[in-house]
Amino acid sequence: MPATPHEASAPVCGRFAPSPSGPLHFGSLVAALASWLSARHAGGHWLLRMEDIDPPREVPGAADSILRSLERLGLTWDGPVLYQRTRRDAYQAALEQLQADGHVFACGCNRKQIAAAGLRGPEGPVYPGTCRNGLPPGRSMRMLRVRVTDRDICFDDRCQGRQCQNLARDTGDFVVLRFDGIHAYQLAVVVDDAWQGITEVVRGCDLLLSTGRQIWLQELLGLPRPGYLHIPLAVRHDGPKLSKRAGDAPLDQWPPGELLAHALRFLGQPVPDEYAPDATMPLLDFALSRWNPERIPSRRRLPAPAIPLP
Ligand code: GLU
Repeated sequence: MPATPHEASAPVCGRFAPSPSGPLHFGSLVAALASWLSARHAGGHWLLRMEDIDPPREVPGAADSILRSLERLGLTWDGPVLYQRTRRDAYQAALEQLQADGHVFACGCNRKQIAAAGLRGPEGPVYPGTCRNGLPPGRSMRMLRVRVTDRDICFDDRCQGRQCQNLARDTGDFVVLRFDGIHAYQLAVVVDDAWQGITEVVRGCDLLLSTGRQIWLQELLGLPRPGYLHIPLAVRHDGPKLSKRAGDAPLDQWPPGELLAHALRFLGQPVPDEYAPDATMPLLDFALSRWNPERIPSRRRLPAPAIPLP
């Protein structure tokens, strides 16, 4: 394992890893708050990683806007922010390790060809293994995939309970280097979580189904497995995921204490009867002293609160 910048650090190390595809929204605020409370309650570190690995999806100014929103909410992080765009060599080294160990193959299939095979998993079409034993005649490499095996990968999620995923059934061999030459999210996350010394991953349930792939990569790369806690995904009352790209109202319109109080209630945590809507420290101190992850609803989705504008 590569040396981590936090080797000699506290035993607990959490992180928040937003993608700069828009300003902080309520769903990412609750993920940030839950991981901050979990790490700080344990006296641990809380690191920030900007997942700007995907330039086409990046919105100019979003990374800075997310950092300013976290500061305004009093969610302070340790050390410098890690930017994934600076980490390509590390992802490439991990990819080469997988290749050297024979876990990776070139794939020449496009989405249409994969969908035409008709295999469906919980996240969409399952890769049918077409190029596993070599590119079929007439196809050239579009991406690199990692082989998976037909067995259950299980982990105990601290909020959602025991989870088991069979990658052969649910996703098939998955992409580690995309057709546009960008290292896949699954690979980057695993490399960075290990390098940053992350011991617990607290994030939204939209990533619950990614966890099996990440554990598989940790096993292949010989990296430690962090603990996992997936909080409910904040959805609109009428259903879809709250999205940074869907034009949700920027959180900065609301007083920060008011936002924290709503986020704490969403996480099932107590809120004082009275609090100053503009102050964050008293609320964060109150929440830290009473943090109990067992109170987080063990649901995959929960309606986001309708917060009236001041
Ligand atoms: N960058 C991902 C997102 O914003 C989160 C990754 C993670 O927490 O593992 O959805």
